[in-house]
Amino acid sequence: MQNNKLNRANDAVNSHLLEAADILEIPDSYRKLYTMPWRELQIAVPITDDRGELRVFNGFRVQHSGARGPYKGGIRFHPEVDLDEVRALASLMTWKCALMNIPFGGAKGGISVDPDLLSQRELRSLTVRFMNNADHIIGPFRDIMAPDMGTNPKVMGWMMDAYGAKHGYTPAIVTGKPLALGGISERTGATGSGVAMITRHLLKEHKEDISGKRVAIQGFGNVGSYAAEYLHEMGARIIAVSDKRGGIYNKDGLDIDLLIKHLKREKTVAGFKDSDPLDGEEIFTRDCDIIIPAALGHVINDKNMESIKARFIVEGANGPITPVADKYLHDKGVIIAPDILANAGGVTVSYFEWAQNIQVHKWGHETVNIELDNIMGQAFENVVEASRKYNVSYRLASFILALKRVHQATIDRGI
Ligand code: NAD
Repeated sequence: MQNNKLNRANDAVNSHLLEAADILEIPDSYRKLYTMPWRELQIAVPITDDRGELRVFNGFRVQHSGARGPYKGGIRFHPEVDLDEVRALASLMTWKCALMNIPFGGAKGGISVDPDLLSQRELRSLTVRFMNNADHIIGPFRDIMAPDMGTNPKVMGWMMDAYGAKHGYTPAIVTGKPLALGGISERTGATGSGVAMITRHLLKEHKEDISGKRVAIQGFGNVGSYAAEYLHEMGARIIAVSDKRGGIYNKDGLDIDLLIKHLKREKTVAGFKDSDPLDGEEIFTRDCDIIIPAALGHVINDKNMESIKARFIVEGANGPITPVADKYLHDKGVIIAPDILANAGGVTVSYFEWAQNIQVHKWGHETVNIELDNIMGQAFENVVEASRKYNVSYRLASFILALKRVHQATIDRGI
């Protein structure tokens, strides 16, 4: 039976953190600091809809830790957004940025809304109102936004515009912006690219070749679709893919270029030619080598963990495996690249975008890709080394490294 407490997203993150704190012998008082957010804001987000009616949505911004730099984290538009989930995601950002050794703290925001049900005008009003209501706690050296589920470069452009209307031209207030506003082209595919890089490192470390490996991916949005594209280029076979409207399967591998064209036309992967339909849940239980969850949290849990056949799981999504399933799978020998390592490509390239905006300078494509590869590769090596040193999973090794850095910065600040 799944432990009820650990069903809550934030308790799940903290359970990993506290395990790391035990190993590092972090005193209790600091544990309290690291397991609770520094600041959290709940925002009423009222808009007038296209019929002239008032509608009020719930918005959140949680700033978990600023010990190592300005708060940094995406904003999610999804009907299931709630404060507990945003807290967990904010905390994950702290540990992710620390593990990557980039000078950011952790934050996350969200609005409980289904963006597919709003017009572009309604979505823009919602975004601008959110920024206005959060104005007193954000800034380019305070708290920097980015895209997450249900948000995209267009929403980031609206955010930059809303902030700029009050404070003047400030491109560094958001990352993941359109190119015309100071965004960088590599940001869009960066998380998926990082997922593919970590998959390649992971397989190499375990003496396996990526070529021909069968991959199943849940979620075919920003992270899932780019991860599929890059892994396909590396020679892997993407045999199963699902999104919120359905799933597809082809044991010989899906044609990813054609699938992306189909997705643009139909807004779902379902119905793609040369594939069989797949029930949503089946994506994790089909015979394959690598699973990439790239949609929601807690999707691999006590209900499906025993049916998983893959040897590797690379977490594209944040918190896709519950702690109970994580332990079960680790004990069974499944090798898991945790979210704070595997999906950190996005925030790393966001850091490049922020740094360029502040310097009013543009890096070349090659520099961005080389720097991303260096940072992801270095983090992977550090995690492997720590997992050997402490004889722990890659997840626990990642939390140990991240916690060490945040703890040092906290002490150096005199806290
Ligand atoms: P997105 O909105 O672009 O795509 C989400 C995908 O998940 C869509 O294909 C959607 O149809 C699918 N989905 C939603 N509910 C589903 C369900 N019940 N079953 C199957 N599929 C479902 O979002 P994204 O930016 O790709 O983010 C995906 C995950 O990756 C999230 O957990 C997010 O926090 C995490 N993440 C994203 C980034 C980033 O840079 N975008 C960075 C780090 C982590």
